Amino acid sequence: MSRYPQMLSPLDLGHVVLPNRVLMGSMHTGLEETGDWNRVAEFYAARARGGVALMVTGGMAPNREGGVFPGAAGLFTPEDIANHRRVTDRVHGAGGRIAMQILHAGRYAYGPDCVSASAVKSPISPFAPQELDEAGIEKQISDIVTAAARAREAGYDGVEVMGSEGYFLNQFLVRHVNRRTDRWGGAYENRMRLPVEVVRRVRAAVGPDFIVIYRISLIDLVPDGSTWDEVVQLARAIQAAGASMLNTGIGWHEARVPTIATSVPRAAFTWLTARLRPEVSIPVIASNRINMPEVAEAVLAQGQADMVSMARPFLADPDFVAKAAAGRAAEIAPCIACNQACLDHTFSGKISTCLVTPRAAHETELQIEPAAVPKSIGIVGAGPAGLAAAITAAQRGHRVTLFDRAAQIGGQLTLAREIPGKEEFRGLTDWFATMIGQSGVNLRLNTEATVAELAGFDEVIIATGVTPRDPAIPVEGGQAVSYVDILNGTVTAGPRVAIVGAGGIGFDVAEFLTQRGTSPTLHPADWMREWGVGDPASSPGGLAPAQPEPPARAVTLLQRKPEKPGRRLGKTTGWIHRAALAAKGVRMIGGVNYERITAEGLHITFGAARENPTVIVADTVVLCAGQQSDRSLADQLIAAGRKPHVIGGADVAAELDAKRAIDQGTRLAAGL
Ligand code: NAP
Ligand code: SF4
Repeated sequence: MSRYPQMLSPLDLGHVVLPNRVLMGSMHTGLEETGDWNRVAEFYAARARGGVALMVTGGMAPNREGGVFPGAAGLFTPEDIANHRRVTDRVHGAGGRIAMQILHAGRYAYGPDCVSASAVKSPISPFAPQELDEAGIEKQISDIVTAAARAREAGYDGVEVMGSEGYFLNQFLVRHVNRRTDRWGGAYENRMRLPVEVVRRVRAAVGPDFIVIYRISLIDLVPDGSTWDEVVQLARAIQAAGASMLNTGIGWHEARVPTIATSVPRAAFTWLTARLRPEVSIPVIASNRINMPEVAEAVLAQGQADMVSMARPFLADPDFVAKAAAGRAAEIAPCIACNQACLDHTFSGKISTCLVTPRAAHETELQIEPAAVPKSIGIVGAGPAGLAAAITAAQRGHRVTLFDRAAQIGGQLTLAREIPGKEEFRGLTDWFATMIGQSGVNLRLNTEATVAELAGFDEVIIATGVTPRDPAIPVEGGQAVSYVDILNGTVTAGPRVAIVGAGGIGFDVAEFLTQRGTSPTLHPADWMREWGVGDPASSPGGLAPAQPEPPARAVTLLQRKPEKPGRRLGKTTGWIHRAALAAKGVRMIGGVNYERITAEGLHITFGAARENPTVIVADTVVLCAGQQSDRSLADQLIAAGRKPHVIGGADVAAELDAKRAIDQGTRLAAGL
């Protein structure tokens, strides 16, 4: 019997029976905007082949003013419909089902023509929306309905009407944005008129044998958001208007509470889905931080939802469902919820992919095929770059030996997984271990590879990684240690700490050193208290006063650049790290010169003239001053006449991260 009987059980929607309870949630990959419809079709077809019951596309704009950004894709012309038909045909040919999300961004649309209930600007947009008049509202409804009808014409199995995350329909629901006094504002019956009318008319347009999902916001996490009674009232009205299912949304995009980042506990918000489920008779779908089959199974087995939605996990592994069904769950490439290659790309105008799986959304370009001539390949370094290269090369039929002087695989990942809120990195190193075993790589740990030892290999790949940079600050006493010794537990820091370097690792170390007890990511109630997540039944929008635990240590984080520390962290996650450290009282100082370290602490000055000498009183000074490539073996090989491939941190240390390392390792091995 399967380990996931609930997840793999069918779901009867009346006119159609879904084969399992897994929905691929909507993600904006940017693929549709490339105009390469073969690539779009292959992206979805790969996931259909992988067994997911139903997919929802990235948000399609119903009209120009509702697009998330100028030029956002939508079904505007017969050519658009024909292009989407290529996608649906390919998905159906692969045995899958796909619904199109209709996303009207309202005041989140990045353009001067954006519209909303009232002219209330969002804090995350530079554009104030125009308040719609009666005719304007009718136009928006009509455009959404037309988009649904065109989706049907294009062969989709259904639509998802986006009504959460603070987008257009959600904006009408709350007084926070809806200041109207006509029949679209004021009393809740009026504020919910728009989403209900949209669903009623969409259903009328598409007929009974078509899936209509409505994405409902369960907890807005903004001031003056919906109350729980309002959420239930809306859910019942949406059901009566003809929706087939309710998908659940958590938090507006402008919320100051993280909702999908890796530090959010797994399945942190399914208690709300569970509360909604008995209020309606149509299936409800749980979402947010469900990333593994056992998490999905638990949500379903506890009766919290009828179906689970996972989005990013299908970037990490298109075969998620097929592997779970085949008893190969350990082989599922895990989504670690880092956002580095998906959402951070989207918000930088780049095509989404996945840190763990660089083929995601690049299926037509990055091919991993059997090697024409199998070779023997020696790889030195079992960090992310070496591991990715080893697995890819072995999967292609090469004979791979992977050396590392350490007793375990993972390289820098073994340090990252010690950070509170980065526990998902454990799943990543576990997955690498499974895949190394499964792909037949000859793993030689505790082994210092030498030039002589590497002589017999057809190809040699050097992935020896990085060594911490010594910032060469004169040490005249006191305790100055590398972040490595702090994170691997060799050294315990004193109660007052100064951190030299405010990059990704400086921030991580500050979180590590201020955390008291176990990580709140593993304790949802603690996490909710820390971030001020309340109950929408008692506080509208579900906001409560944040009550962070007092810090374990007094920490000061420093950098030389005269800018706000943390400015260069991840686009969608940097604010979370900055807010987490602010909550722990971490002092952040930029624009410093490091003069010396003494028993008293870290001595600094400011500016080019080295003015204002100051002592940051500290028992321990932790050095997080970046990295340098470890190229010693590569240099020895080159001196001996070999031509090694050098990848990852050994290649370029500056701003190295696991995303670049895995991508480089995979691409190199795909071409050998
Ligand atoms: P980093 O992000 O490049 O930061 C290095 C820090 O050291 C900077 O604050 C830099 O600031 C300082 N520094 C550089 N040279 C120095 C010197 N000679 N003396 C004193 N200070 C010096 O490197 P990292 O923190 O080691 O992180 C390594 C990589 O892992 C980065 O790419 C990072 O993005 C990634 N990472 C990411 C995350 C994440 O959350 N996404 C977490 C951890 C690591 P000044 O030059 O201004 O002093
Ligand atoms: Fe998940 Fe990170 Fe991959 Fe995005 S980049 S899908 S968050 S692992």
